[in-house]
Amino acid sequence: MIQKGNAMTVITRFAPSPTGLIHLGNIRTALINWLFARVNNGKFILRIDDTDAERSTKEYADKIKYDLDWLGINYDETFDQSSRFEVYAKRFQQLKDSGRVYACYETSEELDRKRKLLSAAGGKQVYDRSALKLTDQQKKDYESEGRKPHWRFLMNSERIEWNDLLKGKISIDLTSLSDPVLIRADGVPLYTFTSAVDDIDYKVTNVIRGDDHTSNTAVQIELINALDECDITFAHHALLQASTGNKLSKRDGVISIESFREQNMEPLAILSLLATIGTSNSIELKKDIKQIIDEFKIETISTSPGRIETDLLNALNKKLVQSLNFIDIKDRLANVDSRIDELFWNSVKGNLSTVEDIKNWADIVFNEDKIDVEDKEFVKQALSVIPAEPWDENTWETWTAEIKELTGRKGKELFLPLREAFTGMKHGPEMKQLIQLLGREKILNRVNI
Ligand code: GLU
Repeated sequence: MIQKGNAMTVITRFAPSPTGLIHLGNIRTALINWLFARVNNGKFILRIDDTDAERSTKEYADKIKYDLDWLGINYDETFDQSSRFEVYAKRFQQLKDSGRVYACYETSEELDRKRKLLSAAGGKQVYDRSALKLTDQQKKDYESEGRKPHWRFLMNSERIEWNDLLKGKISIDLTSLSDPVLIRADGVPLYTFTSAVDDIDYKVTNVIRGDDHTSNTAVQIELINALDECDITFAHHALLQASTGNKLSKRDGVISIESFREQNMEPLAILSLLATIGTSNSIELKKDIKQIIDEFKIETISTSPGRIETDLLNALNKKLVQSLNFIDIKDRLANVDSRIDELFWNSVKGNLSTVEDIKNWADIVFNEDKIDVEDKEFVKQALSVIPAEPWDENTWETWTAEIKELTGRKGKELFLPLREAFTGMKHGPEMKQLIQLLGREKILNRVNI
């Protein structure tokens, strides 16, 4: 454990397996680790858990980095587990030398059968350690049959206990767990082992991860103790759930960070949601990432699961977009349409849910198409008193007062046909703003009467 008053640098890590797109739940774990490192002036490592070559791809690893970068979660160091096979081999040898691993020859079918028998008998499905009893001759016979051993770690302790930073005191009966396989029959080292080795080698001080890893932690503490001296503080947070209450899944494309980017969600809206969901704080939009860092307190993270409601994200995003000043967003708008100026932005931002929505309004304002008018007579009368330019924010009021006088219309009867005639839309930003964006000539040209 980290000793109080000890000046040890806090080191956390985020260790995704590059086997799919990263989702909100994964990113929340990344964010918590990143924030914990940042508030403690520590170091945050990105470790790519890619020892399983069949399931891992470079493409997914790159996407994970892209997503983190896009969100502003920067890492101080990164490495791929696939670059460390030699280190794992050495550590494995160390365990072999100390008699803490044993060769097993069961095929997966044989193991399956054992598990079924145990479960039919109503017992726990714990590996029976029968490989420990194999004689040298039996092992040789297996090998001459062409079988290759997989290797299990011999867990000695009956119980592992730790003080979890989030869940408090945890005590796990190791005899209720199977000795973990560390090396597969094809020689590939497995997660339980490689993660323990890396956490030691990279001097990780705090492992913060989902509570689906709680029993892994017991096994890994036993493993870490067998390998080295090392004090790691563990913390297990509740996993986020889908709005249905189901587990979030990587296969669930709709909650991937990539999909939110494609829906034009702003990184800060996502970070604001993830920093507050599943905590004792209320979900709200943060001003910037600095505020998120300043307010972060690991103890506010709840041990009961938070639910992802995409509506919440949409609401935060909308609030964020509508709070942006032209100066904050000028460059992005210039990429959408160089004619969007401050007046344009201020006029339409109240009608946007995403920044990209402005494209629709740019199209409505700037297009050269004619608009078919239903209420031709009325619109004609309105245009007969169209004021001369320059226009300002009082023009609409003066103009409509005159139309009212001329036609006797008022309220919706007066405003809606004009909105439709000038924009082709039933809803939208305030007309007093819109007419300024359109201008006299455009209005006269576009209405088909
Ligand atoms: N690759 C593991 C996972 O994605 C890492 C878990 C850990 O943080 O140790 O579940």
